[in-house]
Amino acid sequence: MAARPAPYLDDLNPAQREAVERLDGPVLMLAGAGTGKTKALTSRIVHLLNTGRARPNEILAVTFTNKAAREMKERVGRLLGASIEGMPWLGTFHSICVKLLRRHAELVGLKSNFTILDTDDQLRLLKQLVSAAGIDDKRWPARQLAGVIDSWKNRALTPDKVPSADAGAYNRRGVELYAQYQTRLRELNAVDFGDLLLHVVVIFQKHPDVLEQYQRWFRYILVDEYQDTNVAQYLWLRLLASAHRNICCVGDDDQSIYGWRGAEVGNILRFEKDFPGAHVVRLEQNYRSTPHILAAASNVIRGNAGRLGKELWTEAEGGEKVRLIGHWDGEEEARWIGEEIESMQRGTRGMRPFGLNDVAILVRASHQMRAFEDRFLTIGLPYRVIGGPRFYERLEIRDAMAYFRMVVSPDDDLAFERIVNTPKRGLGDKAQQTIQTAARANGVSLLEGARIAVEEGLIKGKGGAALGRLTGDLARWGRMVGDANVSHMELAEIVLDESGYTGHWQNDKTPEAPGRLENLKELVKALENFENLQGFLEHVGLVMDNDKQDAEQKVSIMTLHAAKGLEFPAVFLPGWEDGLFPSQRSMDESGLKGLEEERRLAYVGITRAEELCTISFAGNRRVFGQWQSSLPSRFVDELPEEHVEVLTPPGLYGGGFGAAAAQGGAVRGNIESRVAEANVYNSPGWKRMQARSSQHGTAQSKESRGPVIDLQAVSSFTIGERVFHQKFGYGAVIGIEGDKLEISFEKAGPKKVVARFVSASDD
Ligand code: ATP
Ligand code: MG
Repeated sequence: MAARPAPYLDDLNPAQREAVERLDGPVLMLAGAGTGKTKALTSRIVHLLNTGRARPNEILAVTFTNKAAREMKERVGRLLGASIEGMPWLGTFHSICVKLLRRHAELVGLKSNFTILDTDDQLRLLKQLVSAAGIDDKRWPARQLAGVIDSWKNRALTPDKVPSADAGAYNRRGVELYAQYQTRLRELNAVDFGDLLLHVVVIFQKHPDVLEQYQRWFRYILVDEYQDTNVAQYLWLRLLASAHRNICCVGDDDQSIYGWRGAEVGNILRFEKDFPGAHVVRLEQNYRSTPHILAAASNVIRGNAGRLGKELWTEAEGGEKVRLIGHWDGEEEARWIGEEIESMQRGTRGMRPFGLNDVAILVRASHQMRAFEDRFLTIGLPYRVIGGPRFYERLEIRDAMAYFRMVVSPDDDLAFERIVNTPKRGLGDKAQQTIQTAARANGVSLLEGARIAVEEGLIKGKGGAALGRLTGDLARWGRMVGDANVSHMELAEIVLDESGYTGHWQNDKTPEAPGRLENLKELVKALENFENLQGFLEHVGLVMDNDKQDAEQKVSIMTLHAAKGLEFPAVFLPGWEDGLFPSQRSMDESGLKGLEEERRLAYVGITRAEELCTISFAGNRRVFGQWQSSLPSRFVDELPEEHVEVLTPPGLYGGGFGAAAAQGGAVRGNIESRVAEANVYNSPGWKRMQARSSQHGTAQSKESRGPVIDLQAVSSFTIGERVFHQKFGYGAVIGIEGDKLEISFEKAGPKKVVARFVSASDD
């Protein structure tokens, strides 16, 4: 069959084209951000299909996020100019492995309808095992043990393979617990995230016939973001590719940001050894960003040692410099960004108008998101939070999902434990013990055990009656799963209402309750996109990304990690403060490994921007209810002056950071004094403020290097003291009431103000 003409090849530069057209044998594409790696990878899939080299189901394509997988599918469809029957094996490592594992579950002692645990379930299970082993869980917190087990799984180590040196502080005891944990998971017919890969690798290693089948099947393998693969993923790929060696990996060592999760950038460097004769393609032209943005990113990443060292260039010209702005606190930062986005919509400072879909806010830590969510809700600026397990990790969502799991698989003991007394049914520890005993004695699931306990009258009173209702309800809802007259959305609502779960939040008077009810509604809405509950649970177990495609224009908020591979015309990078970004942990570590990973994260952040990149920091930030003052990130110092414009906060905020700066006599608007060595924080005024907050400082939180200001302690201002307020200027303290001060202001007269907006006067 003659190949159809290939317009998609015309869009590529010669190096990309080479990577696309060299279909046989190993290919490694190693190149910096925005050089068109993903584009080339996508074109390669199109080329495989277009030339008839492979059918859609013979291509194994691994992306890092589900969002990326979806986009790639769409792009392939577009480029091919025809709708393709789905590409079943285009997805993340996890989504592909779950499919493989369902087909061969029995080879590792599971049934094909196994449950995928969330972190919460995993921790509960570990806690039970630790306490059953008679170990004080303060000494071995479940979370820590989970981390160690994950790291073993990431390295494809089953309990029998963990080297003794590795057991380290855990003295083999950890390995024993790991083994028990795996046994327990099997009994529960459950897997955790790490198991998805581990089990498949074990199956491939122990069953050459199965491996061979897939080696034949996946004739072409493609991997995006290869720099972030861990050992287990790497082994998995190597096993599958070793026969035909048609593997094409693309990556960028400068964007390796998952070292903390066991990713090994060394996999890239090893590629040529594992696949001798590999063809290596390097790309250097960046098609995404303006020269200023590129220069800023390049200068920052230059601070890392041991890079493969790639230079990027662009044909693009002009554009805005990278913008830098400091704020008084995190709330002001959010307020400024909100208003800036609003004026960007209209077109500001001679720039083109931006749509909300053009704008992304990329944060280092998810706790930063709240300030933006709060602010944007207040001003009515539409936004979406993308990526990560955020939505599905919320308490109410996990509870609801546990109900759904019980309806779909009544044997799911972990889900049962979660919901049996949520909402409260008067089933305390004792009743739950009774259920456990009944289940064990009869060798049945907890739900069955509960039924028996009720029947035999082992649980008396209100609790017993409630439990009887629950078991009856679950059975009834279970029968509705197959009922053609009830959609799975309706069923979900029925379950949440009749179980009393929705009512529980309706009656709850805490400030979070309305938000939780909203989230439950969202959850039911999300079901629409799935055929049934089972399919949905599968999706959530794996995907956990809340990036629904909707028509309304919205600002995107996400973590830097979730932003990998994406691009936006305008990007805000808030919170560039030492201790937040780079993270405190990376700064405390001996050696530079952690810090270099943070720097790569900064590089990823800046290189997401096409036209406009705005970096900001705040002098004060409330983290988990505590005020902390902080210094601008060391990465701010690494931004090249000539490519940065320092914005002065406008008058409205001038009382904040600006005033603090002005007080100390810092020169505004001059990058040398603001950013380089002599930044505002070196000003005498700022230093005095720092000293003052240290005096007030309470116990230093481990997370913060800077002095911690306790809200109450701030009011240790003294009557008569001369102070400065962000908005009202100078005045004298005339009264103190908790965290409020009464101040007689020189211009504004007497006022009651919140103490945290007041600083000691410098003169
Ligand atoms: P990252 O490292 O951030 O994942 P990447 O190398 O995968 O980046 P792509 O996302 O593939 O880069 O491409 C970046 C942008 O450049 C995209 O908008 C893409 O359409 C565009 N692009 C890539 N190659 C070309 C080309 N040859 N001509 C014009 N535009 C291109
Ligand atoms: Mg990419």
